[in-house]
Amino acid sequence: MGVRNCSRCGKIFNYVAGQPICESCRKELEQDFQKVKDYIKENPGQGIKEVAEACEVPENQIKQWVREERLEFSKGSGALACEQCGEPISTGRFCEKCKATMTNNLNASVRPGIEARRQAALDAAQKELKNKGGMRFIKN
Ligand SMILES: [Zn+2]
Ligand SMILES: [Zn+2]
Repeated sequence: MGVRNCSRCGKIFNYVAGQPICESCRKELEQDFQKVKDYIKENPGQGIKEVAEACEVPENQIKQWVREERLEFSKGSGALACEQCGEPISTGRFCEKCKATMTNNLNASVRPGIEARRQAALDAAQKELKNKGGMRFIKN
């Protein structure tokens, strides 16, 4: 909670959460979003640029909605391409294949880490046991 300037119109407003924009801009943005969404549904073959011009909404705003996976373009429009491999996609930033590969890579890099740590802890415990045993042996 706090008072902030709206990042869209500059008006001072009570900031709660999410995008730092005022209530009226939030409503306007939501209207823009609906307009763009309806336009894409009615004109499925169009790219981001054409949609932006037709709806008078900034291209960057449309791209943001796409990244948030709120907007979907038809793959045939060629409006969106996977940032990893360039395959045509309908929403988000990556195609299903790259998403799956990235998830696998993430799991693959996380799992050995956990295994290695568990092994290291085991080794340390065993070493400690051996040391204690050795010390006892020397003392005796
Ligand atoms: Zn505003
Ligand atoms: Zn891809």
